[in-house]
Amino acid sequence: MSDIIRNKKIITFLYLGIIAIILLCAFLFSVKGKKEDVAIVLNGNEYYKLSLNNDYVDEGFSIKINNKEIDLENVDYKIKENVNKEVIGQYEVDYEINYDDKIYKAKRYVEVVDDVKPDIIVNQDYVAKYYCKKKDKLNIDYQAEDNYDGIITDKVVVDVKDDHVSLSVKDSAGNESKKEVPIKIINDEDAAIITLNGKELIYLAVGDEYKEEGASLTDGCGKDSNESLNISGTVDTSTPGEYLIKYSYVSASGLETIKNRKVIVYEKHSNTHNVNEERVIYLTFDDGPGMYTEELLDILKKYDVKATFFVTNQFKKYTHLIKREYEEGHAIGVHSLTHKWNIYRSVATYVKDFNDMNQIIYDYTGERVSIFRFPGGSSNTVSKKYSTGVVKAIASKMSKNGYVYFDWNVDSEDAAGANSEKIINNVINGINSRKSSVILMHDIKRSTVSSIETIIKYALDNGYTFKTLMVNSQTCHHSINN
Ligand SMILES: [Zn+2]
Repeated sequence: MSDIIRNKKIITFLYLGIIAIILLCAFLFSVKGKKEDVAIVLNGNEYYKLSLNNDYVDEGFSIKINNKEIDLENVDYKIKENVNKEVIGQYEVDYEINYDDKIYKAKRYVEVVDDVKPDIIVNQDYVAKYYCKKKDKLNIDYQAEDNYDGIITDKVVVDVKDDHVSLSVKDSAGNESKKEVPIKIINDEDAAIITLNGKELIYLAVGDEYKEEGASLTDGCGKDSNESLNISGTVDTSTPGEYLIKYSYVSASGLETIKNRKVIVYEKHSNTHNVNEERVIYLTFDDGPGMYTEELLDILKKYDVKATFFVTNQFKKYTHLIKREYEEGHAIGVHSLTHKWNIYRSVATYVKDFNDMNQIIYDYTGERVSIFRFPGGSSNTVSKKYSTGVVKAIASKMSKNGYVYFDWNVDSEDAAGANSEKIINNVINGINSRKSSVILMHDIKRSTVSSIETIIKYALDNGYTFKTLMVNSQTCHHSINN
């Protein structure tokens, strides 16, 4: 091969190579220069409704470049959200994507809503209606509770129909619950009612006399019955223990009605401790005044026992009883104006609720008070849902302002639904095991007010002294958990 031909070939190759490189560069440049279409596509809804207390799970997003979804592993991104599932409100979720040195942003809106209906609790299967009492108000025992508003029994609307009673209630978010309780018409003759004379639960010290007070029998119309009751059971007052007296009646149609009385015989301990070992009881009643407060005040008056009331303005019809509590020598403390958990949103919201309640106390008594009890106690953790560290901050702020709070060291468990018997046992066991007892009770509970006389008698029998809480009383604090 000659050199000339060889050189020509090399030159042709070089030309072709240069052209190829130029074409490639032009191609690459055109690709690079073309505007890319970057889109952030949210999975799920842009406006998202989250039910209160449900976990928020972000559904994520995808990125499309020129309509082609790309792998998120090769993308730098941040998702910022501060959704508080326990507090109703609007929250934002921010997405920030860094792709090819450019920042792209997107937003999702999360609304935490209360869509949970309140509960209506009815403690009976039917409403009894007697032939002779048709026009009377029917006796129905109910309570309404809401996941967000707390107890809303006073908001229940009761509608008596021919064959049922309809109850309905709405929470503050507008969720409505309805309940129907059938009305049962009861034959007067079968509807025997046994009413015990005296108490259903009696505490007696060893050596005390048990006096059978008997019971009365009426028909469904409340008319005294001539039929006689069968009473069985005995009480040995020389031996400590529990005794049951049974009252029963069998109607002509064979229906049996039974009522029991429990008698507890205990040993007296009043002379086992001397004056230097004074045993003190602070009865404390929260959440009222309410429908049972007057009855409670009557009992306290009868025994000249003073208690401490941590008051609220939940049951406005009864709020005025703060005046009677005060005038009869009981101590008053602030519990809460509204007794809603959302007072724990901040120190400021708590203090406002506190001051508003203290103003009401002032309106009725002419005095502002310096003692208080936290709704839920200082150890409550529910407040965490509203604001972290808020109880600690409130406690510190309140103490700086000269306010003193009290928790308790004996829980009657009345708020948890204990019946009278359980309340009495809890309190008596509690006071027996300590020298100074601060007892948690609620004057808005029927069972509490029914048990208080027995508790007072027992305590007086055993040499306890009742006192009221004051700013300089021995502190009784739980540990703060939030
Ligand atoms: Zn309370």
